[in-house]
Amino acid sequence: MGQHKCDGGSPKAKPAMKKMKSGGGWPAIRYTFRKARDVGGVWKLYKALRTKNACKTCALGMGGQRGGMVNEIGGFPEVCKKSLQAMAADMQGAIKQEFWSTYSIAQLKAFSPYDLEHCGRLTQPVLYERGAEYYRPIDWDEAIARITKRLKSLPPDETFWYFSGRSSNEAGFLLQLFARLYGTNNVNNCSYYCHQASGVGLTSSIGSGTATVVLEDVEHADLVFVIGGNPPSNHPRLMTTLTHIRQRGGEVIVINPVIETGLVNFRVPSNVRSLLFGTKIATLYVQPDIGGDLALLTGIAKRIDEMGAQDSGFLQEYCDDSEAWLAHIRSVSWSEIYAKSGVSQSDIDAIAERYAAAKNVVFSWTMGITHHVHGVQNVQAIANLAFMRGMVGRPNAGLLPIRGHSNVQGIGSVGVTPKLKDTIFERLESEYGLTLPTTEGLDTLGCMEAAFEKKLKAGFCLGGNLFGSNPDSVYAAESLSRLESMVYLSTTLNTGHAHGLADEAIILPVLARDEEPQPTTQESMFNYVRLSDGGPRRHDGPRSEVEVIAQIAEGVLADTTAIDWRSMQNTGRIRDAIAKVIPGYDEIAKIDKTKTEFQLGGRTLHKPTFPTPSGRGVLHRHDLPSLRGGGDQLRLMTVRSEGQFNTVVYENEDIYRGQDRRDVILLHPDDIARLGLSEDQKVTVCSETGEMPGIRVRAFEEIKPGNTLMYYPESNVLVPRHVDGQSKTPAFKGVLVTISTK
Ligand code: SF4
Repeated sequence: MGQHKCDGGSPKAKPAMKKMKSGGGWPAIRYTFRKARDVGGVWKLYKALRTKNACKTCALGMGGQRGGMVNEIGGFPEVCKKSLQAMAADMQGAIKQEFWSTYSIAQLKAFSPYDLEHCGRLTQPVLYERGAEYYRPIDWDEAIARITKRLKSLPPDETFWYFSGRSSNEAGFLLQLFARLYGTNNVNNCSYYCHQASGVGLTSSIGSGTATVVLEDVEHADLVFVIGGNPPSNHPRLMTTLTHIRQRGGEVIVINPVIETGLVNFRVPSNVRSLLFGTKIATLYVQPDIGGDLALLTGIAKRIDEMGAQDSGFLQEYCDDSEAWLAHIRSVSWSEIYAKSGVSQSDIDAIAERYAAAKNVVFSWTMGITHHVHGVQNVQAIANLAFMRGMVGRPNAGLLPIRGHSNVQGIGSVGVTPKLKDTIFERLESEYGLTLPTTEGLDTLGCMEAAFEKKLKAGFCLGGNLFGSNPDSVYAAESLSRLESMVYLSTTLNTGHAHGLADEAIILPVLARDEEPQPTTQESMFNYVRLSDGGPRRHDGPRSEVEVIAQIAEGVLADTTAIDWRSMQNTGRIRDAIAKVIPGYDEIAKIDKTKTEFQLGGRTLHKPTFPTPSGRGVLHRHDLPSLRGGGDQLRLMTVRSEGQFNTVVYENEDIYRGQDRRDVILLHPDDIARLGLSEDQKVTVCSETGEMPGIRVRAFEEIKPGNTLMYYPESNVLVPRHVDGQSKTPAFKGVLVTISTK
């Protein structure tokens, strides 16, 4: 792929786009051929996508030993725009040497996320030193030596270690082990900014923090709730399953403040009937106000109770405190529920009637549920609803947090959290005769705040875009710039490489998953562990993540720990360690020999016994939060467009919302009229935390009046550092904004 115009001049905004009537379809097929042309042809792209590697994008899970484009029930061809965008990005040409003397830091700061992603592949280590205008290429030896010297000079608890969910289990396990033996628990991952509330909420309800179902269960459901998410954009192959359910006469209830194109109608390219005639996805679409989910979920439970449609036997036999919980929801008034959800009685009734009539129900959700100060409570309320009709703890029914990055669940499983699970802690100490630190580790935002207070001196980022994913971007840049040193292991450039640079910033180029010289493993959102074979490198220069981590660890810790770090460059050795210390991962030790991928034990719940202290489900009572805003204050939700995956922007257009650019605020026409604004008018959007000038007003009937949406990560500048007290996940949804025309 020749580099896109890597001059910060993002492609000129195309004329206002016609919004699509359905998701997927011929436009997705045309896009595939366009991308294939970019990377050297259809056959080249097809071969790359068919290798035995797990898909690099979302955690729905494709590929591995079944071959690329094969899902967990053997479905083929299962591929989507997100998958081929990530592949095409890795198939880019190398960033040329002269790039670093051509584009200054100041210029890189002006590049958009799209521009930076399309500059090409990183192939040589580069160094930024405070006062310099440019990054300068350095060789690996100097890079490793600088990092080793820096780490040896610092008190370990003045460092932090951030992991992206794209890294392998092996790299994740090895780096967290290195950080702890170095002497700190400031170890965290990107899920703190997305699904941590799911992990905390589910654990408090069912005793386990991940999905209770496998893909096969979802395929056999007759009703699926899709709450606070837009899978057609972010997990497109889930639409295959929803289409199967619809084609079998099943139901899909969507709860979302925005009417999302692909959730109304989707054309699955690999399903002829769906491709030609489209598939009506949502049989019921209900729009709460942003922040109204908890009240709505409580209202549905209250209506089910009024209908007597609950499974009282299940509640009494398999759940704690069901009577107290029922008494609580009976005590909540309907007027409170309407006022705090923004949803009418008739819509709540419609949901409850369909739920009461269904036999096998799966509840799925994403960040529309977790990105709130009451995110954990939202997840608990979903679990409450599932308990109410015995829709958890059996086949074809259950709970499904739709996770983000392809291995975000895996790195959590292998110990990338501030506090190790007791079992892992004990096994690591006993198995290897180690003494692990017991200091309290910081979560992701905790590290940002400690850096701001100069309590931290250095950071180490395994992939990801820490700066970009943070709320309050101005604060985040200031925090990171107060560090003495930051190390990034990356494949392409992102905004974090230009903003908030520490006194010394080093970018180390790493290999992509399908370029690894050794096999690696990943865990899907369905608790399925895949083996990725790796493959031939595309460029000289980048190194494998485990090789880099082991080399630095050897330099820093060789004479202080019992670990043979050099041997840990072998991913097989790392898997031996994972098998010994990570619960449920026993089979990983032989996976590269047997090529047999496996379902993690104890995660999929097909029996109503829950790994909670009592062995029973836990029902939670909640006080309902009031809806915020009103008047000229709007409730903002930051969202991903169809053209991006998390902070990575592959296309500036959002074809499903009809947007040709990203510097826009989408408002209901009534709000535009009420606020005296006009289409495409440039305004300044303000919040208690920041402001964004030059934003274009865009009419968008699909969102409820009083609510608005803008694109993440650019609009993070408006997002305060308010977090859910239990999960420490920032509230990227429900931010109060006003619009100034000055
Ligand atoms: S849905 Fe997710 S796992 Fe499947 S191909 Fe797309 S990005 Fe990959």
